[in-house]
Amino acid sequence: MAITPLMPVYPRCAVRPVRGEGCYLFGEQGERYLDFASGIAVNILGHGHPHLVKAIQEQAATLMHVSNMYGSPQGEAFAKRLLSHCFADTVFFTNSGAEAIECAIKTARRFHYANGNPERFKLITFSNAFHGRTMGTISATNQPKMVDGFKPLLPGFQVVEFNDLAAAEAAVDDQTAGFLVEPIQGEGGIRPATDEFMKGLRRICDEKGLMLVLDEVQCGYGRSGTFFAHEQYGIKPDIMAVAKGIGGGFPLGACLATEHAAKGMVFGTHGSTYGGNPLAMAAGQSILDIILEDGFFDHVQKMGNILAEKLETIVKKYPELCLEARGRGLIRGLKLSVPSRDVVAHLRDNHGLLTVAAADNVIRILPPLVIEEKHIDEFMEKLEAGLKSYVPAQAA
Ligand SMILES: *Cc1c(COP(=O)(O)O)cnc(C)c1O
Repeated sequence: MAITPLMPVYPRCAVRPVRGEGCYLFGEQGERYLDFASGIAVNILGHGHPHLVKAIQEQAATLMHVSNMYGSPQGEAFAKRLLSHCFADTVFFTNSGAEAIECAIKTARRFHYANGNPERFKLITFSNAFHGRTMGTISATNQPKMVDGFKPLLPGFQVVEFNDLAAAEAAVDDQTAGFLVEPIQGEGGIRPATDEFMKGLRRICDEKGLMLVLDEVQCGYGRSGTFFAHEQYGIKPDIMAVAKGIGGGFPLGACLATEHAAKGMVFGTHGSTYGGNPLAMAAGQSILDIILEDGFFDHVQKMGNILAEKLETIVKKYPELCLEARGRGLIRGLKLSVPSRDVVAHLRDNHGLLTVAAADNVIRILPPLVIEEKHIDEFMEKLEAGLKSYVPAQAA
């Protein structure tokens, strides 16, 4: 038997974490890593945050799971609290980001169905987008590495260039249900949508009765310096998928919608066995306890600005290797002139620093939102040491 016990779909690296503490991870031999990846934007409170740990422990001992056949005081309480801090009137809880997007796609299609327009089933999506790995969510992208061998894909998606408002508007036809877009593309290389693009999509949706569906799975939940990234564009979506940070490491996602947009989602149209179970709701509540405290998002912005400034100096200092720094809050990218995957591996293996590679030769920088200036200083030291010692594979 040559196949690995874990299906070999991930090129797993040599880091094998067994313990986490704040902004650090520890491997099997006690090796210490500064974690500026956060499980890909998930561990927003870092590792082992006492408030999250306690909430999960207590809820696990009280009531872990019951069916969604029963009333959910835990779900109602968390939903009300979440909704009171955003555009939405209703929420469906999931266990992952892809499931939240699936629910968002169904909600958008069902809206038009409920209005007597079942032919409006197409979502316009964007180049380099990432929405997950289910059949539906890979159908919403145009990336060969994600779709090859899995065809036929789900019909009803049309991909146009990101940040090209004219192309988005031109793609609208009688079958269009709406747009599905990340306000800040994550996997695509930390590419923020322009103000004009986001406002323009909102305008087109208003004019034509379409659904603006946002994927804030990665950029939402405080990551960009506001609770949700769209707040910085002065627009509101009709439907939004959230996950990653919402559970701080506990598997949880959410599809949020206005009452208007959710008009078709009636009894029996959707469901999930685990979605929103008491344990997940306790985890979600404990995250909100912390991030809704006065000044939390200000802290993210402040740390984000400090990090951005320092990344700018790196770009100036190493112009051959570092082409551009971009992003918002604590979702930052450093665009390189060499494959970012190699540099991410070098920083990891030789400098004890964890970051994430993204498309477009970008190193993704996604620290826990609770970092302090000393962590940024340590990050910059490791990054700069790594850039200095990095020798491109072909030159070595
Ligand atoms: C991670 C991610 C997803 C998928 O979330 P999963 O929990 O892995 O299913 C969807 N959209 C975006 C923008 C993401 O970053």
